[in-house]
Amino acid sequence: TPNCGPMPAWIRQPLGDAPHFGLTQHAVHQHALHTVCEEAKCPNRGECWSRGTATFMILGDICTRACGFCAVKTGKPGSAPDADEPRRVAEAAARMGLKYVVITSVNRDDQPDGGAGIFAATMRLLRARQPAIGIELLTPDFRNCQEAALRALAGHSPFVWGHNMETVPRLYKAVRPGADYARSLRLLAAAAALPGVEAKSALMLGLGETTGEVLEVLRDLRAAGVRRLALGQYLRPSMQHLPVRAYIEPARFTELETAAREMGFTWVKAGPLVRSSYHAED
Ligand code: SF4
Ligand code: SF4
Repeated sequence: TPNCGPMPAWIRQPLGDAPHFGLTQHAVHQHALHTVCEEAKCPNRGECWSRGTATFMILGDICTRACGFCAVKTGKPGSAPDADEPRRVAEAAARMGLKYVVITSVNRDDQPDGGAGIFAATMRLLRARQPAIGIELLTPDFRNCQEAALRALAGHSPFVWGHNMETVPRLYKAVRPGADYARSLRLLAAAAALPGVEAKSALMLGLGETTGEVLEVLRDLRAAGVRRLALGQYLRPSMQHLPVRAYIEPARFTELETAAREMGFTWVKAGPLVRSSYHAED
């Protein structure tokens, strides 16, 4: 049975103090960049940063939405996206010696293309410095501008296009109030249909969903052509965020991973500390 008492031992993870941790932090801060590792208080910071892997968050650090699970600041961004940000990401990635970069962003529902042009420029400049670099995007749903976003990003393959479903449709109202289940699936299906693009998605477990509901989402993702999947435990970033309804046991994650592979997902990570960008380079 799910357990929602104190945080179980399998969740705790040392933050790590390897020398690389400080170096990565320095490269990030020196270029006035934001990482989701820090902003979302990811429990894998020690491990990922020590390996020299980080997920950059572009388009500023203020999101136009307010998801119930997310620690990113919410509000009206005071300014247009910073056109110089792509260059700084490319420079920091080169300095950090990254071979695989994950780029994500806040939602910019205030922008006509949702910020897709800045994603595209970031890919272009990353490749200009390091032609062989692996690139993964984790994008918003581009609410009113999916077509513009697809046009902006289509010419930049190969890359992995991630968009997270986060939870089961029944819980969207509480968990992703600005989002729509069908709209997110539509974006993933369009991404999966682009040549040279692999679609990826992720869910957090422990928000009150049933296993049957999770399997239903996985089937919808496969029907949309998604081949990469990450399943992790939801952790409450603060008392202002949604409570954890259950700590899912590691064995349950293993069962879900097996089920996902049987459905045809080719890249699957499932476990309490898995985040969508966790071991993305594997
Ligand atoms: Fe950063 Fe992703 Fe690693 Fe978390 S899992 S520390 S967000 S790269
Ligand atoms: Fe956080 Fe993304 Fe939701 Fe914004 S849209 S609040 S960054 S999860």
